[in-house]
Formats: sequence, structure tokens, C-alpha cells
Amino acid sequence: MPTPSLQREWPLPPGSMIGVLGGGQLGRMLALAAARLGFDVTILDPEPDCPASRVAARTLMAPYDDVEALKTLAATCDVVTFEFENVPAAVVEQLQTLGALAAPGKRPLAVAQDRVSEKTFFRDQGIATADFAAIASAADIAAALPGLGARALLKTRREGYDGKGQTWVEGIGDAEAAFARIGAKPAILEARVPFVRELSVIAARSRNGEIACYPLGENHHQNGVLRTTIAPARASEATKAAAVDIATRTLEALDYVGVIGVELFELEDGQLRVNEFAPRVHNSGHWTLDGCEVDQFEQHVRAVAGWPLGKTDALAQVEMTNLLGFEADDWQALAADPNARLWLYGKREAREGRKMGHVNRLKPL
Ligand code: AMP
Repeated sequence: MPTPSLQREWPLPPGSMIGVLGGGQLGRMLALAAARLGFDVTILDPEPDCPASRVAARTLMAPYDDVEALKTLAATCDVVTFEFENVPAAVVEQLQTLGALAAPGKRPLAVAQDRVSEKTFFRDQGIATADFAAIASAADIAAALPGLGARALLKTRREGYDGKGQTWVEGIGDAEAAFARIGAKPAILEARVPFVRELSVIAARSRNGEIACYPLGENHHQNGVLRTTIAPARASEATKAAAVDIATRTLEALDYVGVIGVELFELEDGQLRVNEFAPRVHNSGHWTLDGCEVDQFEQHVRAVAGWPLGKTDALAQVEMTNLLGFEADDWQALAADPNARLWLYGKREAREGRKMGHVNRLKPL
């Protein structure tokens, strides 16, 4: 197969092939958005029958580091993106070596995959986060704790999500046990942020550096998993401007192309602290599917394909609720509710806490 030239003509015309690493619900909604703009999508996912596979033009079922699959992606896709941030950064690098164009690139992925690199990145940009220390042993915890406060949050550096791989350290006497609780892995110790609300900003940067931010979402979690997002969140003009500034500086510093999700803590006085960013479309942006002129999935496709970005204005007030586990079994009642816009991910099997779908409930602004 010929290797496509690294020189692309932008914008990619309809009919081009977009590769997506990861075939979960985010890949499914990306593929739907891409199809609407006339693109085809190839999914790479190790699982058979993944949610995106049933709406994509083509699926490669293989591990993310399968060389043959990566060669096929590089040879057949005009651009490759990802929906899953635990794809090894080395895979994106290998794709680039094979002649593929990846967006976002390897750096945002690598930075986001390691909580210490991520917080260091923000600190280097002058963007406020929780105070933190890198941890390699229980002794490191005991040494760092006095500088961070009586209670601090210990998180594994890698592969923690939805509250997994983290534990509160309740004092120096708890250092050994806390390190054991997270599996004695390399970690970060974070000072407790006394936040009043969790917010997120979904933003995008195009190939020519244009940036567009969606209105803020207010996020509520249950057992570490996102339950609802209410958007646009009510916030002061100063808080909104601070969120746009954080997103803009992050996108520019990473020379980012695509949609990003930045999770924020709001303090009592409206100031923001960044928690983390996801180098992909984000669950707290699902409200945009029914609440905005151009939703986050179409926006991501536009950005990676070198199209102009779409409008991010909210057309309605939206409450997005995730359908977890067996909640999606209520689909008939949800479908009969004129105020609920139902999105189901086509997962064959419900499991406790598994994201099976979501509903957007709209009210006038
Ligand atoms: P994370 O895995 O970093 O998204 O953290 C999961 C949840 O833990 C967040 O949504 C917050 O509710 C809470 N959390 C994380 N970091 C901190 C912190 N430094 N201080 C207080 N709460 C935190």
C-alpha cells in the first residue's frame, strides 16, 4: 500500500478517511459526526463489536500497538485522531513514523498521561493548579505532606480515571498504608483544593490556530463517575474569562489541533484551579450535542480535517445525565419523555457503573 505523503491539502475534502484510535462511545459519536460531513471513519480497537464499529465505515480489531493495523491506518487514513487517552503515546509516534498525520499529536497525549507532567506543564504556563509533589515511595509522601497540608490526595501518575487509583492520605502516619492502597505505584500527591464547584471547559483549536470555547459546564460526580453536567453554568464574567484564558493558553502551548476538555475547580471567590485535561472530546461536553449550534464531535472533526471551526454558542440550557449500568433499560420511558433527548451507545452488556448512554434535557436559555 502506498504511504500517503505527509503534505496534506487542507481542508480535507468530504470522502477523506479519518482514523480513530478507540472505539467506545466517544469514537461512535465522532464517527456519526464525521459521516454527517461526508467523511469515512476507520476505527482501531482491540475489542470485538465495539460501540463505534457499528457506525464506522471500517474497523480494525487489533491491539493499539499492532504493527500491521498501524500500517493500514497510516496507509489509508488522511488523518488519525484518538478518543481514548490511554493509547500509548509511542503508538502515535509510530503512526507518524509510518507517514500518518496525528491530531492532536503525541505531545498532548504524553503530557496528559502522566499527572506529574500534566501539573508541571500547567505550572510552567503560569496556570494555577493544586500544589503537588512527585511521589516514588512512602517516604516521599511523609516528606511532602507537611508542605501540602494535613490531608492530601495521592493519585497514581498513570492510568487513573473516574476516581480510580487515588486515595486520601490522612496524615504522616498513613503514608505507608496510603502508598499500598494505590498499589505502590509512582504517584502524585496533591494538596486538597477547597473547591465549591467542579466546572469544565470544552474548547477547540483549528489547524490555522483559530480557537473556540464552549460555555462552561458544571459537573456533578457520583462514586467518582460523572453523573450530570449542567450547561451553560452560571458563573461570573471574570470566571468565564479565566476559563477561556486557561483553555487558550493550554491549546497554544501544546500546538494543539482538535477538541480538548479541561477540568476545573472553582474556589469560593470564583478563582479557578485546573485539575486535569483530556486530549479528546469529553463526557462533560455531551450537552453540546443538543445544546449548541455545532457540537463537540463535529467540532473535533472540523479541526482535525482542517475545516473552519463552528459556532459554540448555546441554544438552550441543558442538563446532561449519564445513563449508568442498568439505567438505560428505561429507554422506553426516556424515549416517551418529550423533554429528554436520548443517546444510546449500543453496548451489548450493561455492567454496574458502565456508561451506556446519556440524556440531554433542554430548557430555554
Ligand atoms: P481526577 O481523577 O483527578 O479527575 O479526580 C477525581 C475527583 O477527585 C475530582 O473530580 C474531584 O472531585 C476530586 N479531586 C481531585 N483532585 C483533587 C484535589 N487536589 N483536591 C480536592 N479534590 C480533588
